[in-house]
Amino acid sequence: MHIIMVKKRLANGEACPKCIQAEEMLRERGLWDQIDEVVWAHEDDPESPGMRLAALHDVKLAPFFILDAEGEPRVLTSALRFAKELSAPKARASEPLLDWSAAASELNQLTPPEIVRWALQRFGTELGIAFSGAEDVALIHMAAKSGFGFRVFCLDTGRLHPETYRFLEKVRLHYGVEVEMHFPDAVAVENLVKNKGLFSFYEDGHQECCGVRKVAPLRRALSQYAAWMTGQRRDQSPTRTNVDVVELDQTFSGKGQALYKFNPLAAWSQAQVWSYIREEEVPYNELHDRGFISIGCEPCTRATRPGEHERAGRWWWEESTQRECGLHVKH
Ligand code: SF4
Repeated sequence: MHIIMVKKRLANGEACPKCIQAEEMLRERGLWDQIDEVVWAHEDDPESPGMRLAALHDVKLAPFFILDAEGEPRVLTSALRFAKELSAPKARASEPLLDWSAAASELNQLTPPEIVRWALQRFGTELGIAFSGAEDVALIHMAAKSGFGFRVFCLDTGRLHPETYRFLEKVRLHYGVEVEMHFPDAVAVENLVKNKGLFSFYEDGHQECCGVRKVAPLRRALSQYAAWMTGQRRDQSPTRTNVDVVELDQTFSGKGQALYKFNPLAAWSQAQVWSYIREEEVPYNELHDRGFISIGCEPCTRATRPGEHERAGRWWWEESTQRECGLHVKH
């Protein structure tokens, strides 16, 4: 397959901003090397090679991509769609995970980017990266740099901060990846609110609301996957000290018999995650600049004070050993 990217040069000699953005996104995702040729369309020169290609294929937008397989060219005008197509052929599991204990000991020797690559090489789009916090975007960044296809999903509880929704959209555009949103069952939410109001978690704990708004949608989401990946770290909470780099999920089921769970950041500290985010210029939720560390739903998250543990701002009215929403329970 021969791939041409047609970029537009404006009359003032500069590249069009959308073309620059598309190139950055493709580089971020490790896909840039797959483009064989870049052709420029000079907006004030209809005879420039790119303008002639635009006329030939009746395209009025820039950038666009021509994918030519055996003399049958196809044109894509969406950089996001192009990135998705480019990732797809590599998206299947290349080998089954047979020797689990050997895999676990091998992974414990690897760095988080190497673990992400290892997992995607084997599971591809059979693996979903669970996205909500800063750690998860670090994983998305590592996945994008691996060059392998990957999928991202998110649980929209309906109670997230407006900043978080804006952040989700930013990540979608930055990495050119679809963020698959999973919503709670409408009738279950209606019944909960009808019976107990909108803030019952302050009275009788968060488990019921999290069960409806998070756990049930997660169960549904994971049924599509053979593996999932989370940003859990051992030092995050008293409930996470035993997190392994790779686990057989004992709580949820996937599409096959086993559901594997990868936690590539298990051995990293909060400081290591943030130094990676700063060094790699990974996008992060603007709430982090206002004292929020671990961010969940708006009514159940507060900014932390200096010296407080990072999970102190989650369900702060409950015991620290109870501060899990049911997504990461181990039996
Ligand atoms: S974090 Fe709070 S609002 Fe969100 S699902 Fe759990 S209890 Fe409900």
